[in-house]
Amino acid sequence: MNVREAVLTVDEMQTSFLEQGPSLIERAARTAAAAAADADEVDRDARFPHRAFDVAREQKLLGVMIPVEFGGFGASIHDVTDICYTLGRACASTAMIYAMHQTKVACVIRHGHGIPWMETMMRRVARDQWLLASSTTEGQNGGNIRASAAAVDHAGDTVSLVRDATVISYGAEADGLVTIARRATEAAASDQVLLALAKDDYSLKRTLGWETLGMRGTCSTGFELKVDCPADRIFPESYDKIHAQTMTPFAHLCWSSAWAGIAAAAVTRAQAFIRKAARSSGGQMPPAAAHFTAAKMSLAKLRALISANIDAFARVEHDERALSSLYFQSSITLLKVQASELAVETVMHAMRTAGLAGYRNDGEFTMGRHLRDVLSSPIMINNDRILANAATSTLMSGVPASLRD
Ligand SMILES: Cc1cc2nc3c(=O)[nH]c(=O)nc-3n(C[C@H](O)[C@H](O)[C@H](O)COP(=O)(O)OP(=O)(O)OC[C@H]3O[C@@H](n4cnc5c(N)ncnc54)[C@H](O)[C@@H]3O)c2cc1C
Repeated sequence: MNVREAVLTVDEMQTSFLEQGPSLIERAARTAAAAAADADEVDRDARFPHRAFDVAREQKLLGVMIPVEFGGFGASIHDVTDICYTLGRACASTAMIYAMHQTKVACVIRHGHGIPWMETMMRRVARDQWLLASSTTEGQNGGNIRASAAAVDHAGDTVSLVRDATVISYGAEADGLVTIARRATEAAASDQVLLALAKDDYSLKRTLGWETLGMRGTCSTGFELKVDCPADRIFPESYDKIHAQTMTPFAHLCWSSAWAGIAAAAVTRAQAFIRKAARSSGGQMPPAAAHFTAAKMSLAKLRALISANIDAFARVEHDERALSSLYFQSSITLLKVQASELAVETVMHAMRTAGLAGYRNDGEFTMGRHLRDVLSSPIMINNDRILANAATSTLMSGVPASLRD
């Protein structure tokens, strides 16, 4: 190491990494171009967006958040959510896969420091561009993530686990998996741990297909997940902490950004429709122009909501107390509900702007794929379930007395 390298700060190192190559924005744009080119085919065939992820890997996008000392770019939550938005404008499935992967990576980064296996994981994600999948949904338990049926079985230095994983997006394509489980056979359903696994640590047997309305390229099939691995794959911190401090904030911020990207893509098509219609009628606005204004307004609301929550998280991301506060938890939980409803509303207005041209499955203004994809958002951890669970905490948190609170 020369003197110059020795005195570089982590921020300077990140800058110098990116100075040697394209910026994160350029890397995301290149990946989005590949994703957009295949989006219709990925949707039609319900297949994994291979080309988009080949480019993402070339551009080192999978490990952007990994700290510089482990080979990544040390990207911030602002950077990562912006990439989710950019990809969402191109191909919803690509964006959602990327969003889910980054949520798992965030758990490893934020709860794996100083743990040799977790640090190895970070290096593999940065160097080999490992793609990490997620297993939280189990059996008939739906979106009830805070209770697990399958338990970790301990035998000396190794552990095993068998899980009825109803849905694992891109499970067959992933290089690793992050899963929740009951701490031990005698533990309560809510006493959970998180495991970060390499592909060699588990096997998957397909149990369910993925023939869905939208998000078809996520290939979220069901599997019997069998784990047999060293005990160091378990995070020492209990899952309830990881859930509150990392899993929920990253999932909700990254998912919402991907959905906002879908909404933005639909608004772009609606705008092109209005422009074409106005041009061909001597500047006369088409009758559904008011729906375009409504689409722009709900997209603006959606973007403002996400930005406010990203800023709020960035301000307290290393402050355990603030992250656990009722105010923060309530806001970040409800972000998912609000963002998904606004994203659906935006796409609906965009489609109604274009009328039949938007409703058709062909033509330059078709919005069927956007609508089908965005309709996954209210059910991806069902909004009804979230609202029912949030009722008590919403009641307990005060009503702000000033706009600056
Ligand atoms: C595109 C996509 C990708 C996914 N990828 C993954 C993945 O990679 N890994 C993974 O583990 N999971 C994944 N999931 C599953 C997801 O995390 C949720 O578990 C799933 O969407 C919940 O499904 P559900 O609606 O059947 O379950 P539930 O949440 O049980 O909802 C079922 C029904 O019950 C109602 N309901 C439930 N609880 C309440 C309540 N308290 N009050 C009122 N009504 C209630 C709901 O409104 C709904 O109608 C994915 C889902 C989608 C859509």
